Amino acid sequence: MKVGVLALQGAYREHAEALDALGAEVVLVRQPQHLAGVDAVVLPGGESTTQDKLLDTSELRAPLTDALRDGLPAFATCAGLILLATEVLDGRADQRPLGLVDVSVRRNGYGRQVMSFEAPLAVRGLDGPFTGVFIRAPRIERAGAVEVLAEHDGVPVLVQSGAITGACFHPELAGDLRLHERFLSQVR
Ligand code: GLN
Repeated sequence: MKVGVLALQGAYREHAEALDALGAEVVLVRQPQHLAGVDAVVLPGGESTTQDKLLDTSELRAPLTDALRDGLPAFATCAGLILLATEVLDGRADQRPLGLVDVSVRRNGYGRQVMSFEAPLAVRGLDGPFTGVFIRAPRIERAGAVEVLAEHDGVPVLVQSGAITGACFHPELAGDLRLHERFLSQVR
């Protein structure tokens, strides 16, 4: 299985390592042609305003949007989820989310870097808690047509929208491959 990891900015290496450990062939996606033949894609955390700009300079915005609209499975984490949301609160004026996951997310909605935290999450379909690592995490303030897979303090933090899984936290930093495994099991 060939999995593209959007590698414009952010925590893509850790995702690549997790996928590699699970036996996937990883392609770092920096240009449109890198999307050719991938079975799934990961959109990592990082800085969504920067990633948003780089989607344009890399000319990946249109082909990535088309591929996701056509049903390419995606695992979008943190800034990655912000990129795919229908609405971004406290975003930059020029930020243009792709509108593929029906949530409104507030950037840094749990506070600044110093407010970063870890919390055990009960994830639908997983045995035992998964440690959510929240780093300047987006907060889902409205969840529309999505399935909620996990909540923290009653607020959704892991959602499924068709073939797209969106996380507010950093599963690649948890030292626990179960969410990547779950993602790969949904591909094909
Ligand atoms: N606060 C970041 C942003 O708005 C997201 C943080 C993260 O990906 N860990 O892009």
